[in-house]
Amino acid sequence: MPIDHKQAYDEQNIFARILRGELPGRVVAESEHSLAIEDINPLAPIHVLVLPRGAYVSWDDFSANASDAEIADLVRLIGEAARKTGADTQGYRVLANTGKRGGQEVPHLHVHIFGGQPLGPMLSR
Ligand code: AMP
Repeated sequence: MPIDHKQAYDEQNIFARILRGELPGRVVAESEHSLAIEDINPLAPIHVLVLPRGAYVSWDDFSANASDAEIADLVRLIGEAARKTGADTQGYRVLANTGKRGGQEVPHLHVHIFGGQPLGPMLSR
């Protein structure tokens, strides 16, 4: 069920638990403020999630409340993860589902990186 992106932060969400080391995650790259892990149910040959380490529910929350350092760090790690996985060689897609209409399922901001195959149109009508 998609989440309400304006909800309070839930400390028990699955990515919070991975960030605390309570659940495993396959780490692709990491930095001071961010972590990149493989998606558990990949929708493309390369499917990575980039998470801020801080407690941000959504892109909406992060863009309004994160520090410039956290925002720069996340953007840099997205690029680094794309290069590390080879997604950068032929192109890739970056996506942040946000809230109910965006189809966000986990209430901790995550940016998807898809690559490794042609990705088709952005949305189908
Ligand atoms: P979204 O619909 O944008 O909220 O995407 C949530 C993503 O999290 C989906 O692509 C899931 O496959 C992925 N996911 C859920 N649980 C895990 C997990 N334990 N480790 C890695 N990825 C996960």
